[in-house]
Amino acid sequence: MCGIIGYTGTANAIPKMMKGLSVLEYRGYDSVGIAAEQGSQTKIMKCKGRISVLEEKLRETPFEISHCAIGHTRWATHGGPSDKNAHPHRVGAVTLVHNGIIENDKSLRAALSEKGVSFHSETDTEVAAALINDFFAQSGDPVASIRAAMEEMKGSFAFAILFEGHTGEVFAARRGSPLILARGTDGYYLASDMTALLPFTKEYCALKENQIARLRHGDAKIMLEDSSKVDPEWNMTTMTPESAQKGGYSHFMLKEIHEQSGAAVKSVSPRIDANGLPDFSADGIEKDFWKDIQSMQIVACGSAMHAGLVGQRLIEDLAKIPVNVSIASEFRYHPPIMPKGSLVVLISQSGETADTLAALRYAKENGIPTLAIVNAVETTIAREADRRIYTYAGPEIAVATTKGYCTQATVLWLIAAAIALATNRIDNAQTHSITRALTEDVPAAIENMLTLENQYHRIARGLINHEHVFYIGRGMDYALSMEASLKLKEISYIHCEAYAAGELKHGTISLIEPGTPVLAICTEKDLFEKTESNIREVRSRGAQVTLICRNDLPIPPGTADETVLLPTTSDAATVFAAMLAIQYIAYETALLLGCDIDRPRNLAKSVTVE
Ligand code: GLU
Repeated sequence: MCGIIGYTGTANAIPKMMKGLSVLEYRGYDSVGIAAEQGSQTKIMKCKGRISVLEEKLRETPFEISHCAIGHTRWATHGGPSDKNAHPHRVGAVTLVHNGIIENDKSLRAALSEKGVSFHSETDTEVAAALINDFFAQSGDPVASIRAAMEEMKGSFAFAILFEGHTGEVFAARRGSPLILARGTDGYYLASDMTALLPFTKEYCALKENQIARLRHGDAKIMLEDSSKVDPEWNMTTMTPESAQKGGYSHFMLKEIHEQSGAAVKSVSPRIDANGLPDFSADGIEKDFWKDIQSMQIVACGSAMHAGLVGQRLIEDLAKIPVNVSIASEFRYHPPIMPKGSLVVLISQSGETADTLAALRYAKENGIPTLAIVNAVETTIAREADRRIYTYAGPEIAVATTKGYCTQATVLWLIAAAIALATNRIDNAQTHSITRALTEDVPAAIENMLTLENQYHRIARGLINHEHVFYIGRGMDYALSMEASLKLKEISYIHCEAYAAGELKHGTISLIEPGTPVLAICTEKDLFEKTESNIREVRSRGAQVTLICRNDLPIPPGTADETVLLPTTSDAATVFAAMLAIQYIAYETALLLGCDIDRPRNLAKSVTVE
């Protein structure tokens, strides 16, 4: 995680650093710092805490105008959040910021200590700075010293580096962690992601694995692995600065909840042909591709994994092929058996999730075809997978995903239909009704659910005084419960467990006390009676029950204290409506508790460490 930024040009770099870092803060926010050229010196200012703390420090001791600077917002991996461990780190002539983990930092630290280097922080980053400085002391060549250090470092990194004696130059390198270069009318930029640079420019170029870049005013070069130099190939992003702003909403999460109907349609409609049938040919995936898939391994983390669980149910139900969902960090160490005809599907909003990337590489090494479902374009997972389908959710800034998860599920629904059609499990008319549901019923249902704000607020009021909450459901509703529970935990810090409704009585029901909140989801008509019995079980033990339920069921009076009714224009509409309700309930709960909704404690958005 961590966000890094850099600039060299004719304008003042300091306000640019602060502006860019405020956008990057979603990537990490336990400490922050900048290093800027001040004449022939490089001055560092850094501290534990949010950007506002650094702003205060800068007000007290302002920097002079600077034309070349780097900045960092941290999510600590090596050494706790502290002023000392905050980036940038300086060793000798080298000042750098880092995103990633140097896995062999202990042995490198020992070797450098033996050479007389003394360290002032516990970070792996300072070790990287010392190593580059060690080579620089010998060669005096920034690029050669970065390259030499890269050969010795294991792990993942994106660096922005200033070298003493190289005024007006920013160097960058990456392996595993993302890094974007950009060109504006007033200079060159780099950042962990493009959203941080949207206030300044739209022209960008993604640095590739193991490349090094040198930016100086009027000249940007990329050094390829074989040391040859090339000019960056600039592209124009379609993102706008507004897409990375709150646009009148009090939180990014709320804005993103509201953007879901549009994001869902955008993600599926370009993949539906004139006859209403799935068509992924613009993604380079022909119809025949779906026919030969005999089993699927979905690999992802967190909410993306929960979207995978939704996909699993759909693909198994519609296409009748076995689907297994793996947590990416477990996949490599206990890979499932993948017979011929398996497809590994990697899901990642950021396209940089380190655990998912490692699983992708494992699958590729073992010769298994891979398909990535990714939101952020040009990212490592998207690039390395054999095939990729982008979700078109737009930038997602809140750490807790909403529209990312929703669009992943829509794309999986369309894939389920594509496989089912290609293998003749469903006919054209059935397929068409699915695509129509995804493009018409789903957005309408989501919009409809947005009007129930008062109800979500009331439900949230019933949760805030409790330490433990349960979500229960069966089948698809168990998959939704897992996401609902994660959403509530990550932003409100209330402990919540998702349980398969029928499983509760096998042990966990002992935790139900008078007043314990239990939220039951029921989008599956056939399972309502069963779930209703489970609700009775908890209710008779005093649970306070909220039912999130289809609107076409005969709900016996007294089943729940509060009932959220879901539209039933189609199965897809009901499922996506339930997603909206669980997200909004989590949001309202965190709001009532005064939590930092967009930046929950200990978390970061793009998890680029394993
Ligand atoms: N490993 C570095 C640190 O702890 C960077 C962390 C990161 O990118 O997540 O400071």
